[in-house]
Amino acid sequence: MYPNPGAAYAPPAPSAPAAPSAPAYGVVPGYEDYMGGGGAGGFVPPPAPLHPVPSPDGPPGPVDWNIPSISEAEAKNAFLEYASSNCCYSSAPATDGVITSMQSFNTYRYRLETFTESRTTEWKTEPYTGQNLDSGPAPAPPPWAVHVQVPEMFKDKEDNVKVPNTSTVKGCHVCSETGQTRCEQCNGTGKKQCTVCSGSGKRLSETCDTCSGTGHESCMACFGNGLEKCKTCDGTKQIVTFINLKVEWKNNLEDYVAQQASGMNIEYLSSVTGKRLFQDEQYMVYPVFGFPDPNLSQASEKMVQEHQSKFGQSSRIHKQKHTIELIPITKVNYSWKDNPHIYYVFGNELQVSADDYPATCCCCTIM
Ligand SMILES: [Zn+2]
Ligand SMILES: [Zn+2]
Ligand SMILES: [Zn+2]
Repeated sequence: MYPNPGAAYAPPAPSAPAAPSAPAYGVVPGYEDYMGGGGAGGFVPPPAPLHPVPSPDGPPGPVDWNIPSISEAEAKNAFLEYASSNCCYSSAPATDGVITSMQSFNTYRYRLETFTESRTTEWKTEPYTGQNLDSGPAPAPPPWAVHVQVPEMFKDKEDNVKVPNTSTVKGCHVCSETGQTRCEQCNGTGKKQCTVCSGSGKRLSETCDTCSGTGHESCMACFGNGLEKCKTCDGTKQIVTFINLKVEWKNNLEDYVAQQASGMNIEYLSSVTGKRLFQDEQYMVYPVFGFPDPNLSQASEKMVQEHQSKFGQSSRIHKQKHTIELIPITKVNYSWKDNPHIYYVFGNELQVSADDYPATCCCCTIM
């Protein structure tokens, strides 16, 4: 802009002053560590745990080892329903197929859920319209001292709260306190190309009536003055800056499914429930131990440890719960038109998976 050939290493010349991208936020005692430059804001490490870590509860109570199994009629019914719910499946294999054998491959599912809350801060602005500022002489409360209503447990939610005593009224930095900015529609010119003559000023070799031959007409958005109401201050010329506290509640859910040899894709199990053998809900749970399947006890110990250390560092743990379900899986061998086939019936819902269903009539892929 201001060439200065004599000084090869001179710093670049200043360009025309642009409107600052952010207001001067100032410093709020207690928030210096969380508020990055320019109001980027940041993560607020969690405070000490709400409660002392619990002591072991001991092993889960007596467990009912009755292994559910389904009858041939139930298996057949589930299969018929499956075939009829798929529009392009012929029901013939389900109707005419003959069950040759059924095997149970029931499996255990251990599920750990950790409900956490995390907080981050950031500077925000809103137009000042004379609203109550909620700002007194008292210092701003530390991020984790701001009162926020805890929502329903184990459900994800997000909340935004204005931190008390951080609001300040300032002149609007975007419009330099004029309440107006350049019109975006006409880029501040107040004019737009004439739509009738497309800017040529002529129509059928005569002067365009609409624009009187100028080729442009007045911008409707700003009535030709090139200015529009400032969006940042809503035209009030003043803004309020405040610290916004973003609060995120998250249910961190993890499953472990014990090995089973049925051959069914284990991912199908995520859509069904099983018979609940054990459930515990506490501020922090103690791993399951003494369970007949040692792999499950080991998985529980590892997952509980990981959740408590990982989520304890990044968030406040409100509650944990874990369950063990016994999920019935029945492998059904049947024959249809003298060929052997397989399907599986699984979960309390008696869902069916039949990846090799023999009579599909079109190419849709189902399950
Ligand atoms: Zn305009
Ligand atoms: Zn025109
Ligand atoms: Zn403004």
